[in-house]
Amino acid sequence: MPGIGIPKKEGEMSAENKPQEVAADVVVSLFYTLTVDGEVFDYTEDEEAIEFLQGYENIIPGLEKELYGMKIGDKKQITVPVEEAYGEYDEEEIRDIPRTEFPADVPLAPGVELELTDNEGDMLYAKVVSLAKDTVKLDFNHPLAGKELQFYIEVVDLRPPTAEELEHGHVHDEEYADEADD
Ligand code: ZN
Repeated sequence: MPGIGIPKKEGEMSAENKPQEVAADVVVSLFYTLTVDGEVFDYTEDEEAIEFLQGYENIIPGLEKELYGMKIGDKKQITVPVEEAYGEYDEEEIRDIPRTEFPADVPLAPGVELELTDNEGDMLYAKVVSLAKDTVKLDFNHPLAGKELQFYIEVVDLRPPTAEELEHGHVHDEEYADEADD
């Protein structure tokens, strides 16, 4: 029966290529629940694991460093201190912006969260603090600035990156827009 050994050999090769644990240059699929101040802030719903390339600061550093060595199916409770999450809350990140900077259709009211584009084209998050006659007071702190984060995580899958993913330092999934790529 010539050829019968070939599929078996390929199967063995792919098993050898599959990473056995989280390490740099491994694509990690993760379920997580993020709890902040005792309340669930965010979580992955069933079968919607986040996927990222380990070792490139694609996720917050305090979480990334705790993942090394974890295997598929491993679960862990991780406390990430403020300085390894989104940093301290900074009063200087509250700034008055002239109303003329905002397009007329932007809903401006205290508490409204905005996604803005700066002069370099980068996305910025900001929350409206208060309104004055000619200015809008915005808080540019990350919503989780100053917060200790509690993660409960499960490693769902591990795979090697493609050559292109490795070169770019991030994963390319089906939702990834090629035109926005670097
Ligand atoms: Zn890319």
